[in-house]
This record gives sequence, C-alpha cells and structure tokens, in this order.
Amino acid sequence: MDATTITTWMREIEAAVRAERDHLVQLDAAIGDADHGINMARGFEAVVQALGGDAGSPPGKLLILAGRTLVSTVGGASGPLWGSALRSGGRTLGDQASFDGAQLVEVLAAALASVKDLGTAALGDKTMVDALEPAAEAAAAASGDSLATLLSAASEAARRGVEETKGMVARTGKARSLGERSLGHPDPGALSASLILGAMAEFVTGRA
Ligand code: ADP
Ligand code: MG
Repeated sequence: MDATTITTWMREIEAAVRAERDHLVQLDAAIGDADHGINMARGFEAVVQALGGDAGSPPGKLLILAGRTLVSTVGGASGPLWGSALRSGGRTLGDQASFDGAQLVEVLAAALASVKDLGTAALGDKTMVDALEPAAEAAAAASGDSLATLLSAASEAARRGVEETKGMVARTGKARSLGERSLGHPDPGALSASLILGAMAEFVTGRA
C-alpha cells in the first residue's frame, strides 16, 4: 500500500458516508442533534478535495492532511475526534513511501488511542469507540494475515460493535442527556466508523 491507497480509501469512504448520510442524520436525530451525516459527508468531501490537490506526499503525510482537513471543516464532536485519529495514525507512518498490514495495525491502534485520549470515552459508553476498539483489536489479531483478511476482520468487528451500541445507555456526548431513552438506537458515530472500515475493506477485498 502506498499514497494512492490512501487517496483511494478516502474517495471510497466519502462515497460510503455520502450514501448513508440521511441514515446517519436520522440516527443522530434520535439521540443527538441530527447533524452527524452532514458533518461526516462534508468532512470527507473536503478531505477528497484536499488530497486531490496534493501530489507526491507519502501515505502518513496524506493521513495527517486528511485529519487536519476534518478538524477545520467539521464543527461537531466527530470532526476533532476523527481529525485527531487520522493525524495520530498518519504520524506512525512517518515519511515512508509504503506500508503493510502490520503497519496498518499500528495506524489503527494509534487512531483509537487518540480518540480515547481526546474524547475520554471508554468501551460501552455508546460512541465510535464501541466500533473502533473491537476493530483495532480484530486487526491486531489478524496482523500476520493478508490485508484483505485483516480489514475484513476489522470491519466485521466494527459492525458487531455498532449492533451492541443499541443495547447501551449513552454515557458521553450529546446523547448522554437522554439516559435510558438512548437505548434501542445504534450510535451514529459507531455506524460511521464501521462505514469507514467497511469502505477500506471492500476496496482491498475487491482487488484481492
Ligand atoms: P456532535 O455530537 O457534536 O453533534 P456529531 O453528531 O458529528 O457531533 O458526532 C456524534 C458522534 O460522535 C456520536 O455518535 C459519538 O459516536 C461520537 N462522540 C461524541 N462524543 C464523543 C466522545 N467524547 N468520545 C468518542 N466519541 C464521541
Ligand atoms: Mg450531532
């Protein structure tokens, strides 16, 4: 994988988020303020645009640029959180021109750590962490496998994480004020995290 992988992933993510934008808005309307789909779609559209204007940066630098772009274009909680995730993930790659599955595992671990650091949400709080943490763990467990297997495992784990958020009472973010009323609804940020990993996995398995 190289810089082209990153730009392609960002295009696939943008398309996946755009396709589910209204669904994400509906989910955020149920337990938040109905802007999550709009935030994510706008953010990744800007990311695709920013990366399109960059010729020649290595993958890590592209992830950092993507993260900076999310921070500056998304106002909600998800902008700074995903921005920080992509920047931290990108930093693990330094200036190297390509990366392998084991290094992607490091990227995911760093991304998760920065989300938890910045947002202070733990597993079970009904946030994107409930999709990202199982995904990062599944990726680490498949570290020696092919990239397609690794990303499929991560994406599957994220999907199961989204399902589990339905049974959780929100303990952080805007949904926290709903308490028990947040039960039964999946967390929109967990769903978009699973869309992001799903788009990455689909692109890689489609080419394998
Ligand atoms: P906002 O909550 O500011 O309207 P969004 O609607 O774009 O921002 O994003 C909401 C999502 O962000 C939630 O569904 C949740 O997954 C995630 N989120 C919110 N606060 C946190 C946090 N402190 N830690 C981790 N994720 C969070
Ligand atoms: Mg919102």
